[in-house]
Amino acid sequence: MPPASRIDSRVEDVIAWFAREARDLPWRDPGCSAWGVLVSEIMLQQTPVNRVEPVWREWMSRWPTAHDLAAAPQADVLRAWGRLGYPRRAKRLKECAAVLVERHGGDVPRELDELLALPGIGEYTANAVRAFAFGERAVVLDTNVRRVIGRAWRAQPLPTAHLTRAEREHAAALVPASALEAAAWNAGSMELGALVCTARRPRCDECPLQAECAWVAAGAPGLEEAPRRTQAWHGTDRQVRGRMMALLREADAPVDLASCPQLEDVEPEQRDRCLASLVADGLVEARGGEPVTYTL
Ligand code: SF4
Repeated sequence: MPPASRIDSRVEDVIAWFAREARDLPWRDPGCSAWGVLVSEIMLQQTPVNRVEPVWREWMSRWPTAHDLAAAPQADVLRAWGRLGYPRRAKRLKECAAVLVERHGGDVPRELDELLALPGIGEYTANAVRAFAFGERAVVLDTNVRRVIGRAWRAQPLPTAHLTRAEREHAAALVPASALEAAAWNAGSMELGALVCTARRPRCDECPLQAECAWVAAGAPGLEEAPRRTQAWHGTDRQVRGRMMALLREADAPVDLASCPQLEDVEPEQRDRCLASLVADGLVEARGGEPVTYTL
């Protein structure tokens, strides 16, 4: 990635804002291990910071290294994941820990190709680990960063569904040459998008970019009309799967989920489909016998 030839004043403003306003999060502590950063990035993929932080703290005190997690029983790992959602991430994290032990002596590698070869690590997470754990210059483009750049530089109300090559190149050109500033820009633009430049109600009055923001200068067009990409939740398979996982996390013996009173409102067809998918994902184990019972 070629270094930015000159730091953009908007990038400087975000870095200065982040130095003042950054939330004090444990995975931002300079003493946090690369493993701790990796765990935080996996947890934060689909879950907000306030829900992740207590789980991360408990997780790291219980399994402070990849060796510890690799040796833990999967049922304990799924229980500790609790209500973070998308529990396949917990299973993949345990698999990732096992590969770290096997290939890297339990350490997290810093090279992009080695990170991408780990289970559950995609381009975003690999770059985030490089930036936040190792201070490498990297393009860390989550939806918050895309929204800030899209608005402040290109007067675009919301990011498109898919990242384009032009967008990636523009984002890469903004990353400062110094690794320290690059890390502050990456974390700061993400924080600004999470706290101030939010999707539907940006708080432009509190934003360090207000005077320079292209979207504000254009009269803040297009946000009301932009389609909402909200996912229905109640009654979905994802919700039913979540309820089943919660029942199993709290149970101290295998559960007959097919006739469980807490799932009475779920149609048998949906119940069977959700159970089959949990078993197929390796999150739930079916015990033989009649009735069939299930456990983590
Ligand atoms: S001024 Fe408003 S729209 Fe522009 S970057 Fe800041 S919060 Fe986002």
